[in-house]
Amino acid sequence: MKEWNDHFFDFLVSHAKVYGFIFPSSEIYGGLNAVYDYGPYGIELKNNIKEFWWKTMTILHENIVGIDSSILMRNDIWNASGHVNEFNELLIDNKDSKKRYRPDLLIKEHVEKKFSNHPKKKEDILFRLSQSLKKKDLLDLKILFDELNIFDSISKTKNWTEIRHFNMMFKIKNENKKDLYLRPETAQGIFCNFHNVKKSTRMKIPFGIAQIGKSFRNEIFARKFLFRMREFEQMEMQFFILPEEEKRWYEYWKNVRLKWHLILGDKKNYKLRNHDHLAHYASLGADIEYHFPFGFQEIEGIHSRRDFDLKKHEFFSKKKLRVFESKKNYIPYVIETSLGLDRLFLAIFSSSLKKEELVENRTIRIVLKLPSYLSPVKGAILPLVGKDGLPEIAKKIFDEFKMNHKLIYDQKESIGKLYRRQDAIGTPLCFTVDYKTIETDTVTMRCRDSMKQKRIHIKNISRIIENETGLEKILKKLSDFI
Ligand code: ATP
Repeated sequence: MKEWNDHFFDFLVSHAKVYGFIFPSSEIYGGLNAVYDYGPYGIELKNNIKEFWWKTMTILHENIVGIDSSILMRNDIWNASGHVNEFNELLIDNKDSKKRYRPDLLIKEHVEKKFSNHPKKKEDILFRLSQSLKKKDLLDLKILFDELNIFDSISKTKNWTEIRHFNMMFKIKNENKKDLYLRPETAQGIFCNFHNVKKSTRMKIPFGIAQIGKSFRNEIFARKFLFRMREFEQMEMQFFILPEEEKRWYEYWKNVRLKWHLILGDKKNYKLRNHDHLAHYASLGADIEYHFPFGFQEIEGIHSRRDFDLKKHEFFSKKKLRVFESKKNYIPYVIETSLGLDRLFLAIFSSSLKKEELVENRTIRIVLKLPSYLSPVKGAILPLVGKDGLPEIAKKIFDEFKMNHKLIYDQKESIGKLYRRQDAIGTPLCFTVDYKTIETDTVTMRCRDSMKQKRIHIKNISRIIENETGLEKILKKLSDFI
């Protein structure tokens, strides 16, 4: 157990690969840094998470509708939104190791290590850092960096370049060799469709637009598996409101989003943290942080973007993006909730992966205790043995219910091993066809979490799966506080 705890993250990455959840991208050519592929069970789990979020947004909130805007958009959008000039990270290179770093992160790490017993000194340096960042004073930042005598951990030298800005948007070329950007957030597709959506749905303020889609960021410090990738998916919702109701809706969305996460996991794993550094578009901001295996980190951001985006797009596109409602002519404010799908996947996967010692037969089992409504496979239909007509009965049951639920039929190993395999991919229920089935039309139902078994009639299988794994129950629970 100690080894499991000490190396949990390595076990998790390995389990995700071996059991078909996550594969490294381009693996047969040596992999591509910070890019991952979802395997057969990974995509089922990811789709279920998406469905949960999508239904929460677009069914439980009657005033939220969805869109799916394109990844490629005109460069004018990124100029107007400020991303071309402002969507930057800081960068420093070590000339000997040729490695790139974020100087602000190197300073923070250095201070944590070096001054852990000198809280006052630590606080002073971090304050200086935050002032330089706020003023975007790269010279002052470099002076601080040099004063701290920071060495590169690889080359062990202090042979650093100057600090500079690095734009995180990926550029590609179109057929005329003109630059285009891959979107770094899905939100701009929502703002640019604000009027199309409003007109076509006849929505009135307040209302929201939700979207799930890929975003791309050329992260300098991409690492920690799915946590920081260069290609990832976001689930974003922009909620358009009356300007004077900014505070009220900001508090509402912080509260509702936190409660949504708490339905998924243990309260002690979540924290709400107000931002000290706001993104260039935001006036209020908070993060919901999750306790990942490497510490508390952001999983979702809630911001007030005020009228920043619509105003900019109105100015640059020269198209009216204001509303005339309740005898007022105004640009609505926007509260945004922005959740990383892959980060949420990692959070759910890591909190579900357990190693259990089974005292009765002195073995261990690895079990993925996913919330059953998110499990990639809801039920496994397994013949006790691969003969005497049992596989045929099991196959018939599988065919009868496979249209209603994501099921698996398997007869490749002994029943004990089949159960372990279903535990490892998080299947909540197994139904075993045995000799008694032939006479009584009953099967043994085995539950993943308790490992308890009981006999049930074949005709009840579908209803039990729906009861135990359906999303509806959870959505009803959520609707109480929305
Ligand atoms: P961070 O500070 O961790 O870089 P951020 O504040 O830049 O994140 P936002 O711009 O607020 O992130 O994006 C909203 C959400 O998108 C984040 O809360 C996160 O869940 C997800 N996200 C952002 N960048 C990445 C990434 N590189 N890989 C995976 N998910 C990401």
